[in-house]
Amino acid sequence: MPRLFDLLPDDTRKELIAEARSNLRPKGAKGSHPQTQKHRKENPLPVPDFVALDIETTGLDFKNDRIIEIGCVKFIDSKPTQEYTTFVNAGIAIPAYITDLTGISDSDIKTAPSFPEIADQLLEFIGNLPLCGHQIEFDATFISEELKRISRPPLSVQLLDTALLSRILLQPLGRFSLKAVSEFLNVKLENAHRALHDARASGEVAVSLVPRITSLPLNIRQTMAACAPGSFFKGLLIKSLGSCKPLVKIENNRLLISLPKISSPETFTSIEREKIGQIFSNDGALQKVFDSFTPRPSQKDMALQVTDSLNTQSFLIAEAGTGTGKSLAYLIPSAIWALANKCRVIVCTRTRNLQDQLFKKDLPLIKEITGEKLKYSVLKGRNNYICLNRWKRLLTGEAGNLSPRERFAILPLILWVENTESGDIEEQNQFNPKWFNKIWNLISAESHECSGRHCEYFQSCFFQQARQKAMGSHIVVINHALFFSDICSENSFLGKNGSIIFDEAHHLESCGHRHLRVELDTNRLGLFTDMVNNLVLKIGDLKNEKVIYENGKELRTQLKHFRKRSQGLLTELEGWVYSQQQNIIRDYQVSYAEDAFERLLEPFVFETTLNELIDKLYSLKQALVSHPDPQLFEELESDVQACSERASQLKADFSYLISARTEDHVFWVEGNKEKGWIKLCGVPLDIGGMLSEVWNSCNGALIFTSATLSISKSVAYFKSSAGLSPHDQRTAVGLFKSPFDPNQAIMGAIKNSPEPDSPQFCDFIVNTIVSLHTEFQKNILVLFTANSMLNSVYEQLRAQKQIESGKLLAQGISGTRQNILEQFKQNQRRILLGTDSFWEGIDVPGEACEIVIIARLPFPVPTHPLTQAIARRMEKINGESFFSYSVPEAVIKFRQGAGRLIRTVNDRGALIVLDNRILTKGYGKQFIRSLDGEFRSFDDITQMISQVKSFFDTDPSDFHSEPSYVPLEDA
Ligand code: SF4
Repeated sequence: MPRLFDLLPDDTRKELIAEARSNLRPKGAKGSHPQTQKHRKENPLPVPDFVALDIETTGLDFKNDRIIEIGCVKFIDSKPTQEYTTFVNAGIAIPAYITDLTGISDSDIKTAPSFPEIADQLLEFIGNLPLCGHQIEFDATFISEELKRISRPPLSVQLLDTALLSRILLQPLGRFSLKAVSEFLNVKLENAHRALHDARASGEVAVSLVPRITSLPLNIRQTMAACAPGSFFKGLLIKSLGSCKPLVKIENNRLLISLPKISSPETFTSIEREKIGQIFSNDGALQKVFDSFTPRPSQKDMALQVTDSLNTQSFLIAEAGTGTGKSLAYLIPSAIWALANKCRVIVCTRTRNLQDQLFKKDLPLIKEITGEKLKYSVLKGRNNYICLNRWKRLLTGEAGNLSPRERFAILPLILWVENTESGDIEEQNQFNPKWFNKIWNLISAESHECSGRHCEYFQSCFFQQARQKAMGSHIVVINHALFFSDICSENSFLGKNGSIIFDEAHHLESCGHRHLRVELDTNRLGLFTDMVNNLVLKIGDLKNEKVIYENGKELRTQLKHFRKRSQGLLTELEGWVYSQQQNIIRDYQVSYAEDAFERLLEPFVFETTLNELIDKLYSLKQALVSHPDPQLFEELESDVQACSERASQLKADFSYLISARTEDHVFWVEGNKEKGWIKLCGVPLDIGGMLSEVWNSCNGALIFTSATLSISKSVAYFKSSAGLSPHDQRTAVGLFKSPFDPNQAIMGAIKNSPEPDSPQFCDFIVNTIVSLHTEFQKNILVLFTANSMLNSVYEQLRAQKQIESGKLLAQGISGTRQNILEQFKQNQRRILLGTDSFWEGIDVPGEACEIVIIARLPFPVPTHPLTQAIARRMEKINGESFFSYSVPEAVIKFRQGAGRLIRTVNDRGALIVLDNRILTKGYGKQFIRSLDGEFRSFDDITQMISQVKSFFDTDPSDFHSEPSYVPLEDA
């Protein structure tokens, strides 16, 4: 599969490679990377003989997909000596996207030999040599599966993975596709995604990388050798150690830097509006530090309103259209105000992209204006940071047994932990905590296993460091998730006097629903039982401590019961789901109420067993503390404590989920029948009510901003969802208009389009896309509300001869979101079909995104239990839910989608809405009014094409931007 790096323009790739190379400069060079600094030069490791291999397949599923091409190159004495390649007749059709990727079509393999016919040649070529390749495990698994089909034993040779070698030895590169690594190492890769070419390149990569193993510091190699699973790579590591032994060694030499703590004063000093205004004016401070800065009246207006809000500790709802420059508009007054008052302002964002933009781009710029005294930092939730104490325990085997796959996964972390300054797992792009959540659960800085100042790593602790930095910062950037966990925490970091700015504030309620959700599933139960099991294993070694050992034995028996009851619970719940809904095929969400499970036995038995487990943990703890020398078992006691806390939380969550008692909460079971997973979920409904209590006790300023807070020029809906009183005198409201000219876009819907629920609707979408694609040499972004519709349109478009192969990109089909977005940005007249995550947060300025199609108005999914419960609640309050909930939610999302079109003052484009309810229904006006500029009604596709054509033919110099500030009705 192509990786993002492979799709970047040549110049960008070269820049990234140069940056990575500079981070890997040899010892003594200026700015050399820590991994090359710490040890004496050792002789390069000799390269063993091997066979480099690559296969092309019909897909990624080794059970159902088949090999279509094999390429092998024998490397003897580090030189390619012999090659073998063949197409393989897979016996099944090659999917179009594989043909697009590899260039291999059905006609290429039609007359080729089948796998059974080439099996002997292949095995003979490989012989007993190790197999080397990029993610070679994938290739080896496919070949073994093919061998199994013809009743032959699987491959039994050793494997050397060049992707793993790259992830360890080339960490600063950050991208590890074969293309990225080859380019970095100056290895020729002429025809990527063809087996022989990839095999040649991966062989050369191995020849280049293996000798570099000795460039790793000795302690890193020792630790890796101690932790790596039995493998060819482990053998190479041990060889590189010479007479030294594999041994876990973790440095503990960082020092906790304590900045002077900043806390809010009792009274605040106001800052001058005029000074703030000057910064945003012609010849102001911003223009001096920022060459391309153009004063924008709406940005200045917003900065002044933010200043007023900070000076008076009042609330501000600030909708800032695209291009206003809202982040500088709130950051500059906040920084100046925080410096003047020696206090802290919290900026709370939803996405990592915005967090990065603020921290890496905007705040350094602001520091140039405000001077060196400004301190700023990013603070995330504890579970974003690695805990050094738990990390050591994992590596020394104390934290439980890891599978070989998990052991390989942690190897790159060994070097990262040594070199990272933040310990924030997000900066580590080779370890995904979601994929390896069992490992991450064992090593993240979770509070229930933190001994604080008593911890031997306290002075080096990444989380403590981040918190200390935040305490001493004037601006602290956090995310919505941390905000919600903070307001539920007893040890709140935010405090009552601090001012908070919420960016991307239109998501506040949905973030509340996500982060306050209580869940219980197989995964959570598995993690808990693993944790208790590790404890049981440790106690199993204490045969000489009779009382403790006996308690451990009882705990083990109880854990066995608990495992059984957990399985029983989930199985019974699954049965209950199928009794409620007979027609489930794949995914399901079924809501439940108070009495839903009263006839089930397993929930009751589960709860009893959990209580007994908690009792056993308590007895074990008593045995430990009553020991004549309890200090001997301090660490074990902290393990028991951690298990007890997890168990108590599990008990509380289970009671909440199973009782489903209160009216203000919603409960449902969700799962996937095919994959067999099931989850109980529950969440409070009234996020606004909860937030309003927080706002009532807040003495600082509160600023809510986003490009989409209003509906038909009113923020009443936002106020109610964010818990702000409709008539509160403390809240000012402002719309800071986008500096873009509404005439930069042509917008409209097509009158004769079929109803969105009609069978003809899909054909209509396809016809519109094909007509636009045929008429214009432009990229087209199509936004869908459902995967099913996207998939149908994709299938139909694939069959259209007007659309060449490679022009069509679809979310979930053609690659990852980021991957297809990068292809789209290359502006090669592509069509991108996207769902949810493409409606917002993507920025494709200029000619790469000049046509946006909205297939359907984005109403919330009416079948989801949370949506249904919110709607019911609205009906109770307002007597109806469509206009008070569904329409406002859809309008906000619609505005986000429409906002993908015009991103700069020079952009032009067409927004075509295919859902004609926007023209025919009364509520359609709310969608139209939410857009700036004329919204047209085209008679049919032909008229739409003609008007769009004359729009693009118009001279763009006729457009002028008219930035302005417009007070809202509520203001
Ligand atoms: S102080 Fe707590 S979080 Fe930090 S390293 Fe120690 S145990 Fe881990």
